[in-house]
Amino acid sequence: SVPASIASALSAGARRGLLMKGGAVIEAAAGLRHVAFDKTGTLTLGKPVVTDLLTADGVSEAQLIALAAGVEQGSSHPLALAILNRARDAGIAPPLAQGARALAGRGVEAMVGESLAWVASPRHAAGNGGMAPGHQARAEALEAEGKTVVVVWREGAPHGLIAMRDEPRADTAEAMRQLRAMDLVPVMLTGDNARTAAAIAGGLGMEFRAEMLPEDKLVAIRDLSAQGGVMMIGDGINDAPALKQAGVGVAMGSGTDVALETADAAILRDRVADVPGLIRLARATMGNIR
Ligand code: ADP
Ligand code: MG
Repeated sequence: SVPASIASALSAGARRGLLMKGGAVIEAAAGLRHVAFDKTGTLTLGKPVVTDLLTADGVSEAQLIALAAGVEQGSSHPLALAILNRARDAGIAPPLAQGARALAGRGVEAMVGESLAWVASPRHAAGNGGMAPGHQARAEALEAEGKTVVVVWREGAPHGLIAMRDEPRADTAEAMRQLRAMDLVPVMLTGDNARTAAAIAGGLGMEFRAEMLPEDKLVAIRDLSAQGGVMMIGDGINDAPALKQAGVGVAMGSGTDVALETADAAILRDRVADVPGLIRLARATMGNIR
């Protein structure tokens, strides 16, 4: 019977760490067109590592890292943690900073000593004092390698660039292959710049939308929904509006205790391959019923 098939699918899922809020989730997950993913921490490990330092004339690498670490020391953003790890590994103690504040989707600024400083995207730098000579082209080349570049700036003088790389999870490429084989369209949604996003999405064989603020992700989900069913997978915390908007919102990863409040389903293990797994379970269940 229908309720019995659904009930057994829900408990089969739960045994594999796939929590679904109810039978309607199974029905919706069996009728999808697009599968949208947040990039950082979902498709990738969410643990970027500093790969390149480019200093402006008269600035040492140690000064560049110290200033950036000072600005970022109160931030829990993955890029901030990468910079703070690099400072710690190099034995650099960040200078005292005050009044740190986030520049939404662009970076963070703070007072370091007597001067204003920020660490932010090249896009932010373009309208706020720019980059050191030659750094624009270097930044673009690093982004084309799939790295995220931030500009470090202090009171009228750009100090340099820090490039970081956040590797895809080990099973991400295979999971995207499975989704495509199931006639689904995987899409990456990211706040990162278009060049970095294109390099990473291209390597994974998926579409992408870049430079998105959280509210842009919500609009993107609404657009995709006009073309058929949409599943959105994210960390469940800063992606809550987009998860809510999607036909099926899925929170993934260890931080999902609160996720089921906003999401329709949760994947408890950090396994991207559980996404095609969940959809296969839903399709098999609905196939049995029909
Ligand atoms: P994502 O969708 O990848 O989580 P975010 O909205 O968190 O993106 O960040 C978008 C962009 O803003 C980053 O790629 C970076 O350029 C910049 N940014 C955000 N927070 C910080 C920070 N703490 N330090 C430096 N840059 C930041
Ligand atoms: Mg984010």
